[in-house]
Amino acid sequence: MILLGWNPDRGADPFGGYRSAVDEVAAAGLFRCRWVLPPRQATAGTEVWLFSQGGGDRGVLGHGRVVSSPDAQPAGPGGSPGFVEFDALRPRGDSILLDLLTLRVPGIAWGVNRPSRRIPAAAGPALRTLWAETSTLEEADPLLPPPGTFPPGALAQARVNRYERDPSARRVCLGHHGTSCAVCGFSFEEAFGPPGRDFVHVHHLVPATRLGAGYELDPIADLIPLCPNCHSMAHRRLPDPYSPAELRALRSAAGFLPGTALSAEQLTAQADAVRILGAR
Ligand SMILES: [Zn+2]
Ligand SMILES: [Zn+2]
Repeated sequence: MILLGWNPDRGADPFGGYRSAVDEVAAAGLFRCRWVLPPRQATAGTEVWLFSQGGGDRGVLGHGRVVSSPDAQPAGPGGSPGFVEFDALRPRGDSILLDLLTLRVPGIAWGVNRPSRRIPAAAGPALRTLWAETSTLEEADPLLPPPGTFPPGALAQARVNRYERDPSARRVCLGHHGTSCAVCGFSFEEAFGPPGRDFVHVHHLVPATRLGAGYELDPIADLIPLCPNCHSMAHRRLPDPYSPAELRALRSAAGFLPGTALSAEQLTAQADAVRILGAR
């Protein structure tokens, strides 16, 4: 795990305007930029936390991961350039401040300013908890972990954007489409009874790459209910997620593992699924 030090008040601006980077994460779920990384430590997949060294809000401001380790380009004095993808960036002034970090995530010299440095992976859970606790997202969707709290492995699979977290858009979407998964038909209420009522993820169908500045959400046309399994599979393809039709096609084309035989029951269930879902 690496702490990326950045002084918003002076020096280089890797974000090309921090405010617009914050907006892009909110809209698209991620923001990718070039970053000078310490050689050898920053392999692809390494988790990073953005640390603001600015006067007013010294503290943790964002979370992400290294997506491409330092290029083949010769390393400069401070390290080599690589790419970092942020999945959570807070506006300036909303950072987790120094005293809170010192109190809750001890054992790290938070006050020391460095361009970037390694911090123990053991600090991860405490940082995530703190991030979730201090999140100012109004009425955050309790079904989905706040950004930055996914375990690293899940980050690539279940990126949610702000449309999927918008509680009122969610209500409109579920009011229209119901709460069964639009791909596999799974209903949490049917499977788990009352505790499963209204439990389902909401997925935004419009790929991040097609979200222009003037985009306005249509909760009925652009959002669909998906169970967490199908939702994770949808986001398995980057940058454009699989469409529900593609997921249904994948499901009907799959159904057996090489070297295994299906039981009569499994075959019936599969045929039923094809019939119910109208898949080819
Ligand atoms: Zn499903
Ligand atoms: Zn989604």
